[in-house]
Amino acid sequence: MRSSSRIRPALSEGSPRGRDATGGIQGQENAEVPIIRKDTAMATNRRSFLRPGMAAGLAAALGQDLRAESLIEPKPVTVAQLDAAAAGVLKLEGLTSPVKIASIELFRFEAADDDYYLVRARSSDGAEGFSFPNSRAAYLYPIFNQLVAPYFIGKDARQLEALVQGVYRHKSNYKLQGLALWCPVAWVEFALLDMLGRILHKPVGELFGGVIRREIPAYVASGSRDTTAQQEAEKLARLVAETGCRAVKFKVGGRMSNNADSIPGRTEALIPLVRKVLGPDITIQADANSSYDPSKAVQVGRMLEEIDAYMFEEPCPFDHLEDTKQVADALTINVAGGEQESSERRFRWMIANNAVQIVQPDLHYYGGFIRSVRVARMAAVANIDITLHISGGLGYSQMVHFASCTPNMGRFQEYEGGVRETGGWFDPPIVFKDGALTVPIGPGFGIAAAQDLLKNASKMI
Ligand SMILES: [Mg+2]
Repeated sequence: MRSSSRIRPALSEGSPRGRDATGGIQGQENAEVPIIRKDTAMATNRRSFLRPGMAAGLAAALGQDLRAESLIEPKPVTVAQLDAAAAGVLKLEGLTSPVKIASIELFRFEAADDDYYLVRARSSDGAEGFSFPNSRAAYLYPIFNQLVAPYFIGKDARQLEALVQGVYRHKSNYKLQGLALWCPVAWVEFALLDMLGRILHKPVGELFGGVIRREIPAYVASGSRDTTAQQEAEKLARLVAETGCRAVKFKVGGRMSNNADSIPGRTEALIPLVRKVLGPDITIQADANSSYDPSKAVQVGRMLEEIDAYMFEEPCPFDHLEDTKQVADALTINVAGGEQESSERRFRWMIANNAVQIVQPDLHYYGGFIRSVRVARMAAVANIDITLHISGGLGYSQMVHFASCTPNMGRFQEYEGGVRETGGWFDPPIVFKDGALTVPIGPGFGIAAAQDLLKNASKMI
């Protein structure tokens, strides 16, 4: 069997599916009308059956049935249950005095032949916190400096959960919502969480329910679409051999391409070839980057089911939630989405309606830990997994902390490299070994090199 690092939340009271044979809700205590649609229930029921021919053929080919542990089995949930799960996620026990925010500054510096960014937050009594923005700081810094950071000055960092909502309303910032607003909010939020963690002498994970794992299994991703099927399968095999990862992700379709492939016939050739080349023990995931309409997405999804793939990411245009749900309803494979999402209500809709079985907020694009933990908690109620999208740079260093404290993390997290260049900036250094990343145990995000890095940094104004 495939090894799985998956830890399931204890949510299995009653029937594992929570639905009766007609798709009704069992044991529904809440008077609110469930918003699970009839077709959702049908899809979930379908997920409980091995499709004729496919599973038997696969089991025969591989000598075992792998599907049972691959399928995520969502539970019916109400909006009220999801809202309750998302409330009050930041825990700051022991912090009895106000932590008044005195300054928040954004710096740029060069290291390892690249540009990096650093936020420094200071409190009025001398506490400091740091964060590493992604490369979009190169052009989002005016939003950071003019519309986001000033809102936090003079406020109590202990109120961070409310402040993240407050900055959304501040100066009508909500009109900018999307990653251009939420990235700068995330960078401030990370720095203030780092400050709070340093004050409490706790890693960030302890502020969100507690650290439950110190090693985070990763998958290797290939971002290529210009390779032939043969070249791509060989590349994936090489990446697996080099990293020790037990999971891969590759691109299918043409990216936002209205069904067109990047190279005609590439996707159809690649999917079976990847399983053939990698063998039965590697977890396979595919990302369509919004390539397909529902009909084509189902066709590609069935090919992925045939090779027992684990995840089909963004099959349809990312904001076409109805089409995505239609695809998820038609398929048994876990459909994933959310890397472009900026709305908690839309994540809630996706979860409540079983439109995806894996939610994928990006800690930067989505506005930080607090908002992403809220999504994770909602997903957990529905027995849905979360697998963060990583937007490059030092995103891995924030991801490992998030994964350290989130029970319903998917079995593998995205890792695009970077430890060799920047892992040493943490205490202890973040290490990537045997396909897994370590979690630094220093307070906050465990950033050890901030003062040194600031020596050659210039303030972005
Ligand atoms: Mg993607």
